[in-house]
Amino acid sequence: GNMQRLDKILGNMGYGTRKELKKIIKSGLVKVDGKVVTKSSIHVNPYKSIIEIYGDKIKYREYIYIMLNKPQGFISATFDKCHKTVLDLIDEKYYAFNPFPMGRLDIDTEGLLIITNDGKLSHQILSPKKHIPKTYYAHIDGRVTKEDIKAFKEGIVLDDGYKTLSSQLVIREIGEISKIELTIYEGKFHQVKRMFKAVGKKVLYLKRIAMGNLKLDESLGLGEYRELTEDEVQILK
Ligand code: URA
Repeated sequence: GNMQRLDKILGNMGYGTRKELKKIIKSGLVKVDGKVVTKSSIHVNPYKSIIEIYGDKIKYREYIYIMLNKPQGFISATFDKCHKTVLDLIDEKYYAFNPFPMGRLDIDTEGLLIITNDGKLSHQILSPKKHIPKTYYAHIDGRVTKEDIKAFKEGIVLDDGYKTLSSQLVIREIGEISKIELTIYEGKFHQVKRMFKAVGKKVLYLKRIAMGNLKLDESLGLGEYRELTEDEVQILK
């Protein structure tokens, strides 16, 4: 069942490489069910046994789910030649989990981005068949009109001929720069910017504020993050 090597369990949790953990375990810093163990190869059920390292009880988990308020200037990828990536914003202790961003936000887009190592959930959420809603807050150059709302509701033909699904455009403030919220049900490349371009308008500022039923935690400043609660992970699923 769930028996795994002790060094593997600790490695998965980001406590070090196999080699480092062998030393740590050998030097008596790890306890299983209250007893010091010195062999890194012993098999333990991490869901049942209490494992302690440096006196900390570890809460074993296979998956991590991080909510990031993405700032501008970071790429939604795990690696990039020129730019910093969203992984540069999270603590290195998470790297052992092999995290990746769930979907993409443009380099100049801010807001809700989930970073996880749960490939199955990511696949589900991003599946084009699922039509998971994504809500964006944006500043638009010029006056957004009732006609725009109607056109977005009916579906917008993008520059490549693709007609978007019905989306909900809500005007928050009209002016020389309009403030809006838009909920879309798919995730085409640069979709929000291209939808506005199709009605002759330009997006000046874009921020994702919700994905499915999960809302961006407003207490997170730009570049700040926190782990999702168990309830929030359930909400996403
Ligand atoms: N639509 C865009 O145009 N950009 C994003 O980053 C997300 C949605």
